[in-house]
Amino acid sequence: MSDDFDIIAIGSGHNGLVAAAYLAAAGKKVLVVERNAWFGGGVVTRELTVPGFLHDQHSMAHIFIQANPLLKNDELGLKSKFGLEYAFPELPMMSVFEDGQTLGVYRDREKTCAEIAKFSKQDAEAFRWLADKAAAYLPMILSSLFTAPTPLGAGYAMMDQSREGRELWRYMQMSTHDFLCDIFESDRVRMHFGRVAGENLVSPDEKSTAMGIFVFVGFLEAYGIGVPIGGSGKLTDALIACIESHGGEVRANTDVERVVVENGRAAGIATAEGIQIKANDAVIGAIHPHDIGTMVEGVPAEIIKDADSTQISETACITIHASLEQPLKFRAGDHVRAVMIELLPNEYKTMRKSFDNLRYGELSEYPLVGLGSLTMFDTSRVPEGKATMHVWDYVPYARADGQSWDDSKTAYAERMLAHMQKFISNVDDDNIIAYHCDSPIDMERTSSSFRQGDLHGIAATTYQYGAHRPTPDLGQNVVPGCDRLYLVGPFQHPGGGVFGAGRAAAMRACEDLGIDFDKIGAAG
Ligand SMILES: Cc1cc2nc3c(=O)[nH]c(=O)nc-3n(C[C@H](O)[C@H](O)[C@H](O)COP(=O)(O)OP(=O)(O)OC[C@H]3O[C@@H](n4cnc5c(N)ncnc54)[C@H](O)[C@@H]3O)c2cc1C
Repeated sequence: MSDDFDIIAIGSGHNGLVAAAYLAAAGKKVLVVERNAWFGGGVVTRELTVPGFLHDQHSMAHIFIQANPLLKNDELGLKSKFGLEYAFPELPMMSVFEDGQTLGVYRDREKTCAEIAKFSKQDAEAFRWLADKAAAYLPMILSSLFTAPTPLGAGYAMMDQSREGRELWRYMQMSTHDFLCDIFESDRVRMHFGRVAGENLVSPDEKSTAMGIFVFVGFLEAYGIGVPIGGSGKLTDALIACIESHGGEVRANTDVERVVVENGRAAGIATAEGIQIKANDAVIGAIHPHDIGTMVEGVPAEIIKDADSTQISETACITIHASLEQPLKFRAGDHVRAVMIELLPNEYKTMRKSFDNLRYGELSEYPLVGLGSLTMFDTSRVPEGKATMHVWDYVPYARADGQSWDDSKTAYAERMLAHMQKFISNVDDDNIIAYHCDSPIDMERTSSSFRQGDLHGIAATTYQYGAHRPTPDLGQNVVPGCDRLYLVGPFQHPGGGVFGAGRAAAMRACEDLGIDFDKIGAAG
């Protein structure tokens, strides 16, 4: 073995970096290795089109991490010492319907109620009820979000103790659609909130998704959506600066082939180039469950079999990043200034049917286009007067028509842009300087977490959730059969998204290494 470290993290995604940063701050000698030539995985800002235009290639909205003590208490000094800064626009999300009507969800509840009342006064009152419930549930949800998950049985037993808990449990089992039909009468209001489920790559008709609405509303009102000044990658930059300030190292172009296991314990890594690097204390691994069998020896066969069987979503993501001569001009008016903007049909059933198409490997009849043009809130990303847009849509990874995404992505991107012209007057050759499209295949090429274009790594289904994510054996960030290996990734609890969930893996490692985790936080 050529080098000697206490801790090695495989992958420089934000979760690996978060875990590594806590351990570096605890005094460990840390190395983070990354396969790509750049750092950050899904939290990266790059000049994807032309020089001077910064694009968030994957994540752009930092929502859940705002409640993480990592940022909330600035445990590692990312904000106070390492330059991380956010804007919190007052309008996090807006739906724009094809006929030009709009519906926004504000941080301010009264403003949201006024928006909903445009469609139904009764629904505005129902939203008040929903938002009250969401605020009441939020502390319970937060209590298990940034630590290793509570065992499912214990979690259900706890919910069973109170009426409120049983009610929450009931919503956890309902589909978003059933829930929305229960509380809202307006088709538009139902569609608007139904689209929120879609952001998790599931149809609103999917069972056990209704809870997502409470989580979304609770977070939006309490924290808003964070827009990182300078781009999503500023979080990655701050984490790297933190690691380096504690004497750690972050290396690019280093592809890890396997974890070196000695006497049932992770002892280092072996790279694809045949180099071994020793880790005296632990290895942190962004290892997709489908790769556990090939990357880690000594794991019992039935555990590998279950990991191999984890289900990936049928709905994959395709994105366009464009540099623009001028900001977007929405036909609905200049008030469309939200972080996330959903372009929706006039009828809810059209949106539901589009999700149905995807189940069968078909392209959705009506594109499910969402977009962000974050230069609305942060002009530091572009030359003066210019803008960017980040557009997403959902497609099947394996197309029923047999076409490969490498051959067909440009045609699909053109379809998305043509569709957008119904809503925006200047999505055309005059305004688009250049664009970059990532198909589901490109997505998985940028990070092995985004397998088959599933931005959550594995599907966000009930049986792959909480302590059972990705499987009941691997749900606690540890790997039976290989001590001192700690898993991080969107395929672990609490799932895909910028959560800073590597904090839970660091807590696990600290427990085993006899480090008082709370003291790291206090040290800042
Ligand atoms: C298009 C898209 C849009 C998204 N938008 C949002 C959003 O707006 N808000 C939000 O909250 N979330 C969003 N997400 C999800 C979010 O980006 C991810 O859930 C999150 O970034 C996952 O972080 P991670 O650190 O767990 O994994 P990753 O970011 O995937 O990092 C894993 C890293 O490990 C490296 N790696 C893996 N294996 C090896 C190996 N063997 N050797 C060396 N390196 C290795 C990979 O190259 C990668 O850099 C989006 C995702 C996508 C794809």
